[in-house]
Amino acid sequence: MLKKKKYIYFFGSGKAEGRAEMRELLGGKGAGLHNMTRIGAPVPPGFTITTEVCTYYYAHDHRYPKGLEKNMLDSLARIENILGRRFGNDDDPLLVSVRSGARESMPGMMDSVLNLGLNDRTVQGLIHRSGNARFAYDSYRRFVQMYSSVVLGLKPLDKSGVDPLEAILERKKKNRGVRFDTELNAEDLKELVADFKVEVKKRSGIDFPEDPFKQLWGAIGAVFGSWNNDRAIAYRQHYQIPHTWGTAVNVQAMVFGNLGEKCATGVAFTRNPSTGEKQFYGEFLVNAQGEDVVAGIRTPKPIAELESLMPKAYLELKKACKILENHYQEMQDIEFTIEDNKLWMLQTRAGKRTGFAAVRIAVDMVEERIINKKEALLRIEADHLNQLLRPIFDSYDKEQAAREGRILARGLPAGPGAATGRIVFHAEDAVAWKKNSERVLLCRIETSPDDIRGMEAAEGILTARGGMTSHAALVARQMGKVCVAGCEALHIDYAARTINLGQTVLKEGDWLSLDGSTGEVMAGEIRTLPSEVLQVLLGKRLEAGKSRVYQQFSKLMKWADNARRLGVRTNTDQPNQAVVAKAFGAEGIGLCRTEHMFFQADRIQAVREMILADDEAGRRRALQKLLPMQKQDFKEILEIMGGLPVTIRTLDPPLHEFLPSREEEIVDLANVMRVPVQTLRDKVKVLQEFNPMLGHRGCRLGISYPEITEMQARAIFEAACELRREGKNPFPEVMIPLVGSREELRAQRNIVERTAKATMKTYGVKVRYLVGTMIELPRACLVADEIAQEAEFFSFGTNDLTQTCLGLSRDDAGKFLPSYVLDGLLPQDPFVSIDQDGVGALMKIAIAKGRKTRKGLEIGICGEHGGEPKSVRFCHEIGLDYVSCSPFRVPIAKLAAAQASIGKKA
Ligand code: PEP
Ligand code: MG
Repeated sequence: MLKKKKYIYFFGSGKAEGRAEMRELLGGKGAGLHNMTRIGAPVPPGFTITTEVCTYYYAHDHRYPKGLEKNMLDSLARIENILGRRFGNDDDPLLVSVRSGARESMPGMMDSVLNLGLNDRTVQGLIHRSGNARFAYDSYRRFVQMYSSVVLGLKPLDKSGVDPLEAILERKKKNRGVRFDTELNAEDLKELVADFKVEVKKRSGIDFPEDPFKQLWGAIGAVFGSWNNDRAIAYRQHYQIPHTWGTAVNVQAMVFGNLGEKCATGVAFTRNPSTGEKQFYGEFLVNAQGEDVVAGIRTPKPIAELESLMPKAYLELKKACKILENHYQEMQDIEFTIEDNKLWMLQTRAGKRTGFAAVRIAVDMVEERIINKKEALLRIEADHLNQLLRPIFDSYDKEQAAREGRILARGLPAGPGAATGRIVFHAEDAVAWKKNSERVLLCRIETSPDDIRGMEAAEGILTARGGMTSHAALVARQMGKVCVAGCEALHIDYAARTINLGQTVLKEGDWLSLDGSTGEVMAGEIRTLPSEVLQVLLGKRLEAGKSRVYQQFSKLMKWADNARRLGVRTNTDQPNQAVVAKAFGAEGIGLCRTEHMFFQADRIQAVREMILADDEAGRRRALQKLLPMQKQDFKEILEIMGGLPVTIRTLDPPLHEFLPSREEEIVDLANVMRVPVQTLRDKVKVLQEFNPMLGHRGCRLGISYPEITEMQARAIFEAACELRREGKNPFPEVMIPLVGSREELRAQRNIVERTAKATMKTYGVKVRYLVGTMIELPRACLVADEIAQEAEFFSFGTNDLTQTCLGLSRDDAGKFLPSYVLDGLLPQDPFVSIDQDGVGALMKIAIAKGRKTRKGLEIGICGEHGGEPKSVRFCHEIGLDYVSCSPFRVPIAKLAAAQASIGKKA
């Protein structure tokens, strides 16, 4: 005989028909409630109507399967027997909550109804039981309001409309001359209930249901119905949750934390969610409802104080938390209510935590033998490591700023960390103010190479324009600077030295704070705390043995190193950045942008001279100035990196980043070049391009002016040969940018090879080296088999590959891309996380074609995606050898690479 389908699972009094593994059938919340009951936690009794009923409901024109009603009445009777209260009883009524709960949590997307079972008669029973008429009528008022909205569909008529019952409540408060709901008395609330019911009748034509059973069916139908409301559908689309799953419904006895001084409600964590410390942590409010804790109207007390107020409940709670953590082998976040000294547990789930806490909990749990190292690596969000490496805001100060409405705007979170300082508008001012021991934030419409010194001097950088791979963002990340870019709400008036942010006007010298991890721009000073990991690794200002954070971080990194297959290199062009990257364990340099080496004031002149020279002789004169500087930098970097590969890219300056723009710059340069100012002005005009990112840049420059590539190759190989002579083992990999054809690469490669041979001959030493190319154009991907004939390695320049594959300007996309993401047209900014279907498909073609020509071809990535966890996982999957990212992202990339090897789902 076929076994009858079970549609309802009961839990209560230490027994549960469901189990933790039954999320598909009972939903996440339901499975948690059943499991908590099973392991002996005091959970208010209740039952779960399965997700199968939801799918049946939709497949059968909103009807329920046969037998469900009887099942439900039986289950309700079981709750009544446990609690000794009857549903719908006038003297001591059982009230229930009816809540949704899908397999995956969909916070706030579906509906719930609380305090169900109240009517004009049962409310008297509640008054009798509680001895508190105000409490009873407040519960009744909330119930009618919630039910009318969720079940009876009493909503504002349009987007701008007011909730009709909310309007009545507001009117009542106005009539009574009070501001808060809490100031209304029992009589007011009673009148409100009556007024609400009249409004319901007027608007919907039906009487508010008095029969509790009718209320219950109505609520269950509404919760199932909410599975298909607009926001739930949109949420599922966004997170790719199948529409066929359906939601479960949990019907559970209500318990009250607001019935007097022997009642409380609160949240407990099995470990400290900010620091990760193994301590019983949490807060509670006496005589309150769960939503009072969340709303922050009253300040909750630390959980330790519960011990003296309600000792029995406290001890029971502490014990239950321990059992739950052991059971789930994970830090738990638990909601509880105490009603008349009796503890009830309402929810348990894995607790949200800071990056600090995530690392500490994972490492501690390995040491406590609760989880293994692989599990520990999977437990930490790779991006969370940022918090350990950057200055962070004092969380209290930041929350206060938010409460005081000091968050003025939001831009792109381009360089993570916390920065606070005084506003300056020009790089020179940043440098000068810093000299006077001021902390400054450099605020620019956009940045250019001229600003580099100022960027260095500033605590953080704020720009009005530019995307995640704009100049400011890229340079800031490499320097480890906090940066909020593309803040469209920002209006800078350089002349008046003011910033307009909405209604707020700030002037030079005013304090401002930037959260580069969230993109928030906040008025005023907010306290920041330095990273201990950096103090140990770089400043040597802190001994490793004295920093628990550092010790745990370094343990975790060792585990990650053992687990990962992908190599991790860094993008850097400054010796001091190379030192940082090496301290983080970078295994080489994956991109040294040589044009960045010219940003300093004394050098940029020579570069401009070179760009603006009329003929080869003029260019060679300028190049001659650049050669010794480049050589010295290369030597330093190659030396710092020891025998590790250092990928040096030949010049790739989008001309707009290097041409002088201000009149005084043109005048200065004309003097140096000994040409009339007007001649230079004209030349600058001639060189201006409509689309510099697709203009005379990359290898095109070296093709037009081979002497540039030749000078750079000389600088590289002279530096390497000198080191070789000193007994060192440098390993340069020379990389040609923006190649679209085999011929381009061959032409450039010939120059490099010729120069390498000649230089090695002159020095009488041999240097290991490779010549390869960046793959950053769609054509390069499609003809990668041909290009591989000339290339000993490939490195994906996914910034340009994204730009060219999507036809999306790197510098202009910031204006509209955020709204694409917001409206769901794109899952993510493709300059942040690789567009796997488009750009990723091109990468796969290039890898297959490249390795077909040259087996074992070394392939990496050096676009900004190389440090983004999801992209790192993708790079692992498609078989890259390494990723390369800015120094401060090296640990993040290592952890993400380890997670990819272990098999974390993206
Ligand atoms: C790239 O295009 O991905 C790249 C690394 O080069 P750049 O950002 O310097 O153009
Ligand atoms: Mg590029």
